[in-house]
Amino acid sequence: MQSENIAKNCRLPISNCQLIKCAVISEEEARRQILKKVTPLPERTVRLASALDCFSACDLVARLPLPAFDNSAMDGYAVVARSCRKGARLRVIGEQPAGPDWGLRVGRDEAVRIFTGAPLPQAADAIVMQEDVMREGTEISVNVDVEPGDFVRRRGCDLAEGQLILASGERIRAATIALLASQGFAAVSVGGQVTAGVVSTGDELVEPGGKIGPGQIYDSNSALLNALLQRCGASAKSVKHSRDDRESLREAIKGGIKNHILIISGGVSVGEHDLVKEALRELRAKIEIWRVAIKPGKPFLFGNIDHCLIFGLPGNPVSAFVTFLQFVRPAILKMMGANLNLPQTPAKLTVDLTNDGDRVHYVRGKLEQGHFTAVGRQESHALYGLSQSNALLRIAVGESLKAGEIVDVQILE
Ligand code: AMP
Ligand code: MG
Repeated sequence: MQSENIAKNCRLPISNCQLIKCAVISEEEARRQILKKVTPLPERTVRLASALDCFSACDLVARLPLPAFDNSAMDGYAVVARSCRKGARLRVIGEQPAGPDWGLRVGRDEAVRIFTGAPLPQAADAIVMQEDVMREGTEISVNVDVEPGDFVRRRGCDLAEGQLILASGERIRAATIALLASQGFAAVSVGGQVTAGVVSTGDELVEPGGKIGPGQIYDSNSALLNALLQRCGASAKSVKHSRDDRESLREAIKGGIKNHILIISGGVSVGEHDLVKEALRELRAKIEIWRVAIKPGKPFLFGNIDHCLIFGLPGNPVSAFVTFLQFVRPAILKMMGANLNLPQTPAKLTVDLTNDGDRVHYVRGKLEQGHFTAVGRQESHALYGLSQSNALLRIAVGESLKAGEIVDVQILE
């Protein structure tokens, strides 16, 4: 009896959708099954200028120490600290600007005029800032006591040769690019780039910019998914709208599966107009997951047509948002060779929150100065509330959290 019900709810022939696979599964199990299906894309070499936000495909170690040679941290005079007490008079024997090393040597009672970043003359062990000396012709008188090491940047004090500078799977940030450039790298090997197709389904949808009539709404999921894809480094190659009929869905899906992944929004629930599963079946898709114990987002679907992974997200915008972050994003990151999750941070809860439902609940909220407060209506259509939130709090089934408690929240931006 129970399996009959499941089969009925499943609305797919048993051959295409084994009962066990169509049963509602946990969020963790869904993610595990999805990630098992994902193979990282082949790595590629990109020039540094194009490497921002890519993920390194290998461990990279420093080829040069930083700094690469002892140099001056100031404009001033290179001296031997021992011969340089307050009141000392020193003879200026030459000048060393930043650039080629002139190989000058400084002796006792001598100084070399030097500039920031210039190599330290031989025997010099300190720099006196130009503000701390009085120059008269070829002599200076020193107005401060000088210690060995003053304003000298020692070779390798920042980074040693051979030290790990970028780990495989690590995101390449602006400062990482600068570090790689400082090591002489002109290009870097990174994970592949994921291309995605997006199909938003629904007879009620109108493209923003168009005119809406009674009962119609603007398609916000296409824009949302395009932005979320960009945010995690993937590119939406085709974004199409499909009416709620099988032929139009089939055509849109066929166009989308030329990409690594296809995201379909809407039409994956149980209503008569939710035809995505049937259209997928007609295209010989393998459906691995349909329905996950997550709120919002229960009707989530996952499968594949040949090499293209298919993610069916519920049409409600908050459900699409949450399921993208919990299921699609990890898959994309794995394809791109990344080793990270959504960043989490501890926060103090401002009110009591309980999950007495049967699905793990992602509560949208605002993280401000270490405090998390749920915002807006916690319903799957409530897009405004979502737009006001910057963090998600996961509450497990049966979990009761008290105001003042420290919880971990996922940061959205
Ligand atoms: P569905 O998953 O197709 O049953 O849709 C669930 C809800 O989400 C309905 O209220 C739809 O109107 C809404 N919806 C579906 N697709 C979109 C979209 N692309 N943009 C905004 N709302 C949508
Ligand atoms: Mg629909």
